[in-house]
Amino acid sequence: MTIKEYVAKQKQLLCIEVEGLQVKPSFVIIQVNDDPASDSYIRGKIKDAGEVGIEVKLDKLSPTISEEGLLKVVNKYNNDPKVHGLIVQMPLPKHISEDRVKLSVNPKKDIDGFHPLSHLNPCTPQGIIDYLESENIAIEGKSALVIGRSNIVGKPMAKLLLNKNATVTIVHSRTKKDDLLNLLARADIIVVAVGKKWFVSEEPLKESAVIIDVGINRVDGVLYGDVKPERNVALQTPVPGGVGLLTRLRLLKNLLEAYYEICNN
Ligand code: NAD
Repeated sequence: MTIKEYVAKQKQLLCIEVEGLQVKPSFVIIQVNDDPASDSYIRGKIKDAGEVGIEVKLDKLSPTISEEGLLKVVNKYNNDPKVHGLIVQMPLPKHISEDRVKLSVNPKKDIDGFHPLSHLNPCTPQGIIDYLESENIAIEGKSALVIGRSNIVGKPMAKLLLNKNATVTIVHSRTKKDDLLNLLARADIIVVAVGKKWFVSEEPLKESAVIIDVGINRVDGVLYGDVKPERNVALQTPVPGGVGLLTRLRLLKNLLEAYYEICNN
């Protein structure tokens, strides 16, 4: 199944699930920037939520708000029993500590999965695992290569693959080119999260490899992935219409998990 088909089917199932709930699941997005990329991500989240019957409120604050002021708003939603999920959209203005704000979100409502005490995993890596499993792609015992070591993609991706018993290697900006080439040629599952157009282009790969392209690179108004399209492999996720959709789907699933935990306790 393509990612588009998979996501559409999963959303139908979520819609039926939400329809049967007495109390509607709801989440809040706090935005403290005037960043067009954030506007677009937020529009996507609001659209997705609406499609499956989840309530969402955008609380847009002035970028001049103080850190204490923002923390007060976070705390208001942390303590509001009608709110099951809370997202503070990044980036934040320079005078506000992203770490402090991320840690201030009630871990039970942290549907982004950024809080160290959150039971939920970050949406991009968990969305990727969900899709691999839906496609019956074996992870156990496979050689997995994660390119990139960010806190929101690379590191949690490596951890989740490890938890599924893959043999995981992480490469990063200081990895030697020869090492990268050797690892690429041997890997069964490759997750590329670098943020450079076609970072993986003509390098030799196994024909049986699965390549997950996380990159979103806008060049002259056109979106490109981190991997050159149509490599000769068993499965390659497209950009656009790939991991971005999986991430958005996983956010809705994280919200429902948070909802059940909050409502059943
Ligand atoms: P980041 O900038 O935080 O991390 C990039 C990583 O790439 C770093 O860890 C760095 O070590 C590594 N890197 C840089 N040069 C390298 C090289 N030459 N060899 C090997 N590794 C190298 O980025 P991020 O937040 O992890 O995002 C990565 C990409 O994924 C971006 O394009 C971002 O827009 C995209 N992204 C997409 C989604 C989605 O839902 N599709 C979600 C998050 C991020």
